[in-house]
Amino acid sequence: MTEFEAVIGLETHIQLNTRSKIFCGCKADSWGDPPNTNICPVCTGLPGVLPVLNQAVVEKAILLAAAMQADSIQERSFFARKNYFYPDLPKGYQISQYDEPLARGGWIEFPLEGDSSRRVTITKLHIEEDAGKTVHERDRRLIDFNRCGVPLVEMVTGPDLRSADEAAQYLIRLRQLLRWLGISEADMERGQLRVDGNVSIRPKGSNVLNPKTEIKNVNSIENLRDAIEAEIKRQIREVTAGRTIEAWTLDWDEETATLRKMRSKETEADYRYFREPDLLPLRVEPAWKDRILAGLPELPLARRRRFVDQYGLPLYDAEILTEERSLADYFEQAQSAYPGEAKDISNWLMNDVLRLIRSLGVNAGELKLTPGHLAEIVILIGEKTINATTGKDLLERVQESGESPAAIVERENLAQVSDEGELQCIAQAVLAENPDQVATYRSGKETVLGWFVGQVMRKSQGKANPQLVREVLESLLRE
Ligand SMILES: [Zn+2]
Repeated sequence: MTEFEAVIGLETHIQLNTRSKIFCGCKADSWGDPPNTNICPVCTGLPGVLPVLNQAVVEKAILLAAAMQADSIQERSFFARKNYFYPDLPKGYQISQYDEPLARGGWIEFPLEGDSSRRVTITKLHIEEDAGKTVHERDRRLIDFNRCGVPLVEMVTGPDLRSADEAAQYLIRLRQLLRWLGISEADMERGQLRVDGNVSIRPKGSNVLNPKTEIKNVNSIENLRDAIEAEIKRQIREVTAGRTIEAWTLDWDEETATLRKMRSKETEADYRYFREPDLLPLRVEPAWKDRILAGLPELPLARRRRFVDQYGLPLYDAEILTEERSLADYFEQAQSAYPGEAKDISNWLMNDVLRLIRSLGVNAGELKLTPGHLAEIVILIGEKTINATTGKDLLERVQESGESPAAIVERENLAQVSDEGELQCIAQAVLAENPDQVATYRSGKETVLGWFVGQVMRKSQGKANPQLVREVLESLLRE
């Protein structure tokens, strides 16, 4: 039996997080706003108005192109009209870029299991405006123009992905990168990152590109994975049965987890593209481009690699710490204030601080607990001034008040009790109060020791040095 492999390319539409729309001053992000409240004559296509290009859109798109390793960011590019009729497209055309886009070529690399990675080529990256939204309500169709003119980057990959999982991985890395660059919130449920998948199959080892189908309307990474998986299986079934694959557009139905045929795919000729006569060519002077690119941060995978090389962190830690840029910044700031091993800071960040971040629903940069505070707490524990339990407590106290950890320790007398005499007194009292447990211990059930340690810790209000408590108890019980 023939073995098949899948050939997958993804087309993404990325909503840039500019304040205003691409060609007018209307608010760009209308999430949660009533329909048709962020609109004006320009974005609703009334006669006699002219579009004015939003500079921030170009700047964010250039950052993305550079992060995609674009072969060239064009000094001169053009806008084009893409003509089609649809109720939610009031102008009857969409302003996009076509034959002379902002950037050409490029790739994005993402790691696969183990040490391998996959490099995906970017064949197309251009800016364009969004269309409105049609809402179906029983037997009526309602139109919301709020989304008309929202700035988008359209980005298309080459047919380089080989499985539904790889497609999902690509999207996870792209979303990370968009947030990292600060150019899009990339929330799929809010339509800020939309994806269509092109899927075909071929016998393994072959180089041909067979007719592909396009999957539309997936609104989560899980749905994309499921839809592509289902489509690969369908195509293998069809081809094995001797039928051919036609270039359909398919709609993913989340409820039933099935694909439905929408229509035969349009070809580019249907759009009758021509240069947009209302806009000048877009010129990106070298000096402007340099200024924009000066703001390009070190990218997530490069930073992940550096965290391993420079700080000696395990790859697992480096992966978590670079999932999000503000967390990576937080780590490096805390580490620079800490003289010890990077792994100490990493452990606290990955466990307790990350838990705090998630429960508060903020990012690391928004914590009142600064990187300096965290370093101070880890130092206090390292010096044995406080124990780890007090340290965990302090994280939350500092987060609430913004006070320095040392000041709280001093004022509330939280320093750990390492005075052997004092601990001996407490331990003796605990043993005297619990003769039954003492007898149990002495009869050979030494696991009771842990319970005794807990009692002494409680009596000391959690301040005792647990290591010392254990030693003191052991010696008293031996007597
Ligand atoms: Zn407008």
